[in-house]
Amino acid sequence: MYDRRVGDCPRPSAEGVPQSNGIAGSQMEGKVSKVGVVGLGTMGAGIAEVFARAGYDVLGVDESEGAVERGRAHVDGSTNRAVSRGKLTDVERAGILANIKYSTSLDDLADRDLVIEAVPEQLELKRRIMAHLDGILAPHAILASNTSSLSVTQISVATSRPARVVGMHFFNPAPVLRFVEIVQTVVSDPEVVATVRGVAESLGKEPVVVGDKAGFIANALLFGYLNHAISMYENRYATREDIDAAMRLGCGLPMGPLALLDLIGLDTAYEVLDTMYREGRDRLHAPSPILKQLVTAGLRGRKSGRGFYSYEQPNSPVVIPDAATPINDASSGPIPRSIQSVGIVGSGTMATGMIEVFARAGFDTIFVARSPEKVAKVLANLQKSLDKGVARGKLTQDERAEALTHVTGTSTLDDLSRVDLVIEAVVEELGVKTALFAALDEICRSGAVIATTTSSLPVVELAAATSRPQDVVGLHFFNPAAVMRLVEVVHTVATSDDVIVTAIDVCQRLGKHPVQCADRAGFIVNALLFPYLNDAVKMLEANYASADDIDTAMKTGCGYPMGPFELLDVVGLDVSHAIQRTLYLEFRERGFAPAPLLEHLVTAGYLGRKTGRGFRTYAV
Ligand code: NAD
Repeated sequence: MYDRRVGDCPRPSAEGVPQSNGIAGSQMEGKVSKVGVVGLGTMGAGIAEVFARAGYDVLGVDESEGAVERGRAHVDGSTNRAVSRGKLTDVERAGILANIKYSTSLDDLADRDLVIEAVPEQLELKRRIMAHLDGILAPHAILASNTSSLSVTQISVATSRPARVVGMHFFNPAPVLRFVEIVQTVVSDPEVVATVRGVAESLGKEPVVVGDKAGFIANALLFGYLNHAISMYENRYATREDIDAAMRLGCGLPMGPLALLDLIGLDTAYEVLDTMYREGRDRLHAPSPILKQLVTAGLRGRKSGRGFYSYEQPNSPVVIPDAATPINDASSGPIPRSIQSVGIVGSGTMATGMIEVFARAGFDTIFVARSPEKVAKVLANLQKSLDKGVARGKLTQDERAEALTHVTGTSTLDDLSRVDLVIEAVVEELGVKTALFAALDEICRSGAVIATTTSSLPVVELAAATSRPQDVVGLHFFNPAAVMRLVEVVHTVATSDDVIVTAIDVCQRLGKHPVQCADRAGFIVNALLFPYLNDAVKMLEANYASADDIDTAMKTGCGYPMGPFELLDVVGLDVSHAIQRTLYLEFRERGFAPAPLLEHLVTAGYLGRKTGRGFRTYAV
């Protein structure tokens, strides 16, 4: 798991980073040996380092001595960290540094075979630089833009050689992430595209050729999600820490969205969203107002020392506390209720997982299944899971035995009359759950906390089925409950403050990481995850890229553990469709409407791995 205190990049890994052999040009692609990089900021410095690592002769240009020095310091720092982590030797580092020369004059690039611009995301600036380079470079030279979202076609026509202009979109941090989008316009010469692809491969990258559409593959999918996360934060739906923790722990992402935005740079993020909005007129891409405000105030993310978070100093990855940092002061605020005994209603995957989690944490746990046979089945599954834990060294035989002493099964709901906390994990149907809540209202002792682990139903509907809505809260565990650390603690408009702190306290006693949010469809994780998955389906449907290329883009460009189509097939297309539909019905966002292709696959019974076919076909 990425730790923002010790590194500055998601998924640091030496794989795919070719080691410099110190001999300029020995690994390089046929016609390209001398490379120029214009703009040595967040991306340009990283790109220069990548080429230098592969043995290319690199000249980096920025507009002032100060900017060049910042760029040089960036490369120095990055290669230094690689040495201290054992990923580079001192000799290799010296070779890389020797491969890069610096200048403040574009004219010094005249002898280059390939020049990549990485100046700020402004169309006119990029066009001006490309036109200048066009005037000084030899006719064979290739021009590439690292733009994240601007039209490469518009950039190319500022030169007299649009056929020799392509996009070469690296990902941040360029030395680490292996994905590169090669953007081919309608006028790009296929040979130039092939050459640039070969160059990218010689860098150890995994290039994919895409058409010229705002955001290409990865950003088109990433930025809708990032913008949604910003608006959650802006609307105070959840804190920045909770939004980020939810996506790291709930989806296994290397960074949360707000920390990632700080790494990308908020000015760049604003420009990317603005371009995407202007091209597609999708409201979901209209930059959240707070983004503009932060940029206007000079808070551009890590590079300026402050963005959504505050950093030790500009360009530092170390987050320091600020006025928005939550204060954990148990001495003030409501006192949690005492919870010793817990009731769990249900006999499925989630219920069984939660029984294990509570029993292992020493809570007296009584579970209710619908029949004695189901009770026996749950106990058998529980024992199997504990045995697996012992076999894997996660718990000892004694701990296994101890956990089982805390568990009692029953098929009588009335047996929950004395517990301190009840969590229901029955079927995801509003009618079934409201009937259960009405029954629990009759049975549970006064002061008991009554919780639901629903993923998509409104918690307030369940609260309203009782005479004590103040005691009702959502505790959204993730599957498998014994493994996943995240729990979303969902409060309704009626939940009392001491019930919220009780829920948080219980999660902490379980060794879980609670995040708090209000009662809206999808809570944090599903509300951010499923629209992104749906967007990926729409991109496939539009034939912009293949499922394989889209999965590669998100895995190797953004460090996601799984590509969207892999994940959809694992989650189940029916489940994904149902969640997306819930989000659409609650928010009435046109952009949230389930993709027709997703609907059709569900109708055809292609539900993913569980049916042997979804977006891909599996051996059954
Ligand atoms: P940045 O603000 O960190 O760096 C821009 C650099 O360009 C600065 O060093 C600046 O001094 C220099 N510059 C400005 N005007 C110049 C000029 N006239 N001549 C030479 N240098 C000039 O920005 P960045 O994040 O590195 O973004 C650069 C490009 O890369 C943008 O097109 C952006 O969309 C794209 N990109 C960014 C990311 C990211 O995560 N930040 C990822 C991929 C692509």
